[in-house]
Amino acid sequence: MTTEKTVGGPDLPQERKVVTEIPGPKSQELHARRTAAVASGVGSVLPVYVAAAGGGVVVDVDGNSLIDLASGIAVTSVGNSAPEVVRRVTEQVAAYTHTCFMVAPYEGYVEVCEQLAALTPGDFAKKTALCNSGAEAVENAVKIARVHTGKDAVAVFDHAYHGRTNLTMAMTAKNMPYKNGFGPFAGEVYRAPMSYPFRDGLSGADAAARAIDVLEKQVGAPNLACVVIEPVQGEGGFIVPAEGFLPAIADWCSANDVVFVADEIQSGMCRTGAWFASEHEGVVPDLVTVAKGMAGGLPLAGVVGRAEMMDSVHGGGLGGTYGGNPVACAAALGAMATMKELDLSAAARRIEQTMTDRLRALAEKVPAIGDVRGRGAMMAIELVEPGTTKPDSALAGKISAACHQQGVLTLTCGTYGNVLRFLPPLVMPEHLLDEALGVLEEATLGLV
Ligand SMILES: *Cc1c(COP(=O)(O)O)cnc(C)c1O
Repeated sequence: MTTEKTVGGPDLPQERKVVTEIPGPKSQELHARRTAAVASGVGSVLPVYVAAAGGGVVVDVDGNSLIDLASGIAVTSVGNSAPEVVRRVTEQVAAYTHTCFMVAPYEGYVEVCEQLAALTPGDFAKKTALCNSGAEAVENAVKIARVHTGKDAVAVFDHAYHGRTNLTMAMTAKNMPYKNGFGPFAGEVYRAPMSYPFRDGLSGADAAARAIDVLEKQVGAPNLACVVIEPVQGEGGFIVPAEGFLPAIADWCSANDVVFVADEIQSGMCRTGAWFASEHEGVVPDLVTVAKGMAGGLPLAGVVGRAEMMDSVHGGGLGGTYGGNPVACAAALGAMATMKELDLSAAARRIEQTMTDRLRALAEKVPAIGDVRGRGAMMAIELVEPGTTKPDSALAGKISAACHQQGVLTLTCGTYGNVLRFLPPLVMPEHLLDEALGVLEEATLGLV
């Protein structure tokens, strides 16, 4: 089978176009090959095989053009094949592809670290270590916090998602599919209750008091190296904690020699309408983990934080063969330049406005929509049995599948699998966002 080469990027026609069944015949052919060759534990939300992507669309091998409300899970915030990413990556690939920063260093890595220090919250000296994936960044944050404090315990929250490596599986809350059968897990990981306004109805102060009580009574500050928290939870259900919750947890950490780690892997890099979601409540983390949106789709992640904490680790204690690969760093510099030039935080706030208005109007008509929430271009609806908080994951799945059939790429999430989440690229053209919301409205009204 030959697949026509198609150039992606923002010049792709910005349209929704469904020309075959979804998935179409060519995708189905590829899927048969995939089923024979790829481990079945690796899933795909929608098995349409990609030919090109850019702006707000993903074009498949059958010529269908889907509106992208996923961004490859909050990664292609600057759009696929963004021009400045393509230009810098192309130049870098032609110059050299890898030397290993631990063998012979290069400027791109240093520049990414300089920029992250400037962009993350906090007016103090910061340093950064780069790595390949979000999970690896979280692991490194824990390593750093343990060495810095000389303590072992790690606290995380209900509904948390921090990755799929051994330590981060222990930190992730949800059993299926992330943990089931994969133990034993790393020790000294403790879980505190999260603020989840739709389900607990608590104020931020009360939810924080409840969490701090667990930390004090069940772990003890003298044993606790760090608290790791997503300022807006991602896979767990796009949960925005009640106002005051994050600052109270951060204050408790600083009063108790506990490192406060904000896992901004999904919420960072303009996604929520600010460089980092911590900023919405003026929270200044000690360490910040970054990945997903930072490099326009190339694998790059990092831990950024207080210089004295980052530097507490012995020489050679951090690193890895590919961490901060020069091509990935070139992509990150291109992505960050694009975020600044196009003011993608403002774009995320515009997306929030449009989506909030439309989703709230839909919720008025659909009692199964129990909650509309999110920040910036990280928005969600939670589906429940009308008049209750009882999760309706079947309905979330059906709405999502109906959107797929109509050429809109949506994702679900949540501990109960009942949350439909929307993560458009921040460069999404307004007319496509409107059209995608129209499809979502029609799909929802047709199913309830
Ligand atoms: C995706 C994600 C991770 C894990 O990142 P990977 O690159 O998949 O390892 C960790 N934390 C959060 C909040 C995430 O959204």
